[in-house]
Amino acid sequence: MLVDTFGRKIEYIRISVTKQCNFRCQYCMPDTPEDFLDSSMIPLDKTLEFLKIAINEGIKKIRITGGEPLLRDDLSDFISSLRAYSPSVELALTTNGFFLKKYAKILKDSGLDRLNVSLDTLKENRLKLISKRDALPNVLEGLQEAKKVGLPIKINMVPLKGVNDDEVLDMLEFCLENGFILRYIEFMENSHANSSLKGLNEREILALISQKYTLSPIEKQTIGPAKSFRLENGGVFGIIAPHNDDFCKSCNRIRLTSEGTICPCLYYQEAVSAREAILSGDITAMKEALKLSVHNKPEKNQWDNEQNQHSARAFYYTGG
Ligand code: SAM
Ligand code: SF4
Repeated sequence: MLVDTFGRKIEYIRISVTKQCNFRCQYCMPDTPEDFLDSSMIPLDKTLEFLKIAINEGIKKIRITGGEPLLRDDLSDFISSLRAYSPSVELALTTNGFFLKKYAKILKDSGLDRLNVSLDTLKENRLKLISKRDALPNVLEGLQEAKKVGLPIKINMVPLKGVNDDEVLDMLEFCLENGFILRYIEFMENSHANSSLKGLNEREILALISQKYTLSPIEKQTIGPAKSFRLENGGVFGIIAPHNDDFCKSCNRIRLTSEGTICPCLYYQEAVSAREAILSGDITAMKEALKLSVHNKPEKNQWDNEQNQHSARAFYYTGG
């Protein structure tokens, strides 16, 4: 079992399988050159061996993210191998949805349990403005395909002032109509994002929803930092609000980057390199790196907007 020095059980690992992406979202990697290639990616068969160790040590949930994970064309074989190794581990994927129409069934057949699709707007031109891609038709088709093959879907929306804050309710209603669960994510300031962006916080998001619906918080049933709410019509949605003081108390996760670095926290610079251990298949060294990263997990993130201490680490590197 992996338990950190503050008694939190670490059962969830997020793995970024590539830093590359076909989008250039304003809040993530707006200035990354179009032709950027991730030259340090670990082969997925090596990552698999690391994850087997993590599962043996008590990891129960794996989320595959990036960059855009569906840019790795051997991803479904990787998921099948993980599923074959552990029938019970929860396997989830976060994607921008652009390639989902092609991959939804393959992913489902490989043993993926669930999907998070990032979608910040239902307006075609606006998505182009946010992501620098004319992507809405592809994403919407991909969502319908994923729904058809029976993958449970959550939608991640980052509400931004003056950009898409007028769609907080529209996005909620779109998700309720389609059987998706919407999760609003507070914009997390970082030095790679467009510095003029301002996010809506939890209170502001709830105020907009309350203009139309009566809502109540749902008592926490799952471990992890997301909060859930229920509307009077029975619909549910979630908010990830890392600006809140109590956010880190229930943190149960660590992150592995595509180059093999284990990050114990998004907003904490120290990390443990497991790259050589993973590339050489050194089981003892991989286990040690895993345990060290859990041991190093800080009690709270080191994030202080008032002192302008933004994370220098890119989200497309850590996987968000
Ligand atoms: N490309 C995939 C996608 O967009 O879903 C996976 C990687 S992306 C880094 C993972 C999640 O991080 C997405 O839901 C995205 O909206 C979120 N994200 C990226 N930058 C963010 C930021 N600065 N603040 C809050 N969420 C962010
Ligand atoms: Fe790409 Fe996802 Fe970052 Fe957008 S949020 S640029 S889709 S990695």
